[in-house]
Amino acid sequence: TEAAINREQLLARRRQVIGSTCSLFFKDDPLVVQRASMQYLYDETGRKYLDCISNVQHVGHCHPDVVNAVTKQMNQSNCNLRFVNANLPDCAEALLKTLPGLDTVLFVNSGSEANDLALRLARDFTDHTDAIVIDHAYHGTVTTTMEMSPYKFRHGSSIVQPEWVHVAPCPDVYRGDHRLDDKDLENVAKLTEMGVMYADDVEAILKENAAKGRKVAAYFCEALQSCGGQVIPPPGYFKRVADYMHAAGGLFVADEVQTGFGRVGNTFWAHQIGNEGFVPDIVTMGKPMGNGFPVSAVVTRREIADRLGHNVPYFNTYGGNPVACAAVLAVLNVLQRDNLLEHSQAMGKIFHEQLMELKQRHQCIGDIRGVGLFFGLDIVKDRKTREPNTRLANDLILKLRRDEGVLLSTDGPYANVIKIKPPLCFSRENVFQTVNAIDKGLRELCN
Ligand code: PMP
Repeated sequence: TEAAINREQLLARRRQVIGSTCSLFFKDDPLVVQRASMQYLYDETGRKYLDCISNVQHVGHCHPDVVNAVTKQMNQSNCNLRFVNANLPDCAEALLKTLPGLDTVLFVNSGSEANDLALRLARDFTDHTDAIVIDHAYHGTVTTTMEMSPYKFRHGSSIVQPEWVHVAPCPDVYRGDHRLDDKDLENVAKLTEMGVMYADDVEAILKENAAKGRKVAAYFCEALQSCGGQVIPPPGYFKRVADYMHAAGGLFVADEVQTGFGRVGNTFWAHQIGNEGFVPDIVTMGKPMGNGFPVSAVVTRREIADRLGHNVPYFNTYGGNPVACAAVLAVLNVLQRDNLLEHSQAMGKIFHEQLMELKQRHQCIGDIRGVGLFFGLDIVKDRKTREPNTRLANDLILKLRRDEGVLLSTDGPYANVIKIKPPLCFSRENVFQTVNAIDKGLRELCN
C-alpha cells in the first residue's frame, strides 16, 4: 500500500541522515506516529495504540489546553529572560507552592541541563567538588551528567567514571546489595531497616572520601530510579542520607525529572513519599513539566542560588522563556482542575491490585513495584534466584505492540523490567486493557 511504501522511504531517509546510535523504540519495526491524542498514538495506517510509556506528555498528547497556551504566547511574545514577562514569576510561584522549604527557581531546557546546573550550584555553594550517585542511575546526556550516570558508563561507553564521582549501592530491596525475601517486599518495618542499611552505605563512602581528603558537594538521586529499573527506595532512606550529607558539608539533590508533577499520585513529588517532612536542598525537574514542550528547572534555596558562579551572571538563552512558562502553567492548571493527582493515585491502586493478581498467575513475574502511574514488572527466569529474563520481557513488549496495540518498554540494568508510565489521563479501562494484554501475552509466550 501507499502507506507502507511511504513508511519504508521514511525509515530509509531517517537512517541516511540521523546518527546510527540514536535510540528507537521497537527498532526492528519502528512506530511511525502520524497523530497523537491524549493516551493514544496513531500510526500511518490509522491504527490506534494505547501509550503506556510516554511520561513526558503528562496530561495527554497534544492536550488542547497546553497547545492553546503555547500557541497564544508564541503569537504574543517570546523574548529571553533578560526582558521581563509575567509568565516567569507566575510559573516560579506556582512551582514553589508544591515545594515548601524551597524558595528560588532557575529555569533551563532539559533534565540534563537541570542536573548539570544542580552540580554547579552545589559545588559553588559548598566549595567541594565530588558527587555521590547511586548504581544504575541516569541523570542525563551532557558530559557531566553522563559522568554521573552508571547506567551509561558501566556499559562499555566512551564515558568513564571520573575520580570525582562515587557510586553508592542502589537502594533496591529486590536486586540490590541488601535484599528482602519475597514475602517481605511490602513489609514497611523490614523496608525501613533496609533504608537504614542503604543510607549507611552512603555514610561509609563519605567517610572513605574524607579519609582521602576528598570532599563531596552533593549526593544525587532519582526520587524513584527510572531507567535503572523502576526502583522505589525504602521509607526514611532519603532523610537519613540527607543528614549524613549535611554533616559532611554537602547537599542533597533529588532528581525528579521523571517522577514529579503528581505521577506518583499521593504527593506532587516522589521524594515526599515515605520521607515525612524531608526537604532536599535542590530539586531538578523536566520531562512532564511542559507536556512535551522543552522546559526544565532547578529549585533550591536562595542562599544556594545566590552563590552560583561567584559573581559571574547566569544567563540561559531559552531557559524560562514565556512560551515554555505558558506550557508549564497550562500543565499545572490541568493537573489541578482535573484532579489528576487523585486520579493517578486511584489508577495506581487498581494497577497494584491487578498486577499482584497477575504475579500469582505467572511465575515469570518476580516483582511488582510502583505507585501512582509509575510501575515496573521485574521479569525473571526463576523466582528463587531472581535471574532476569531479558528475552521474555522483550518478546512480551513486541507481542503486545503487534497483537494488542499496547505500547510498553523495557529498562533496567538487565533490560528485563517492563515499564508502565503513561500520561496521567490513563483511564480505568486502559488499566484493565493493559493488565489483560500482559496476562494474555504471558500465557501465550510461556506455554
Ligand atoms: N534525569 C532523569 C531521571 C531522567 O530520566 C532523564 C531522561 N531520561 C534525565 C535526567 C535527562 O533529561 P533530558 O533527556 O531532558 O535531558
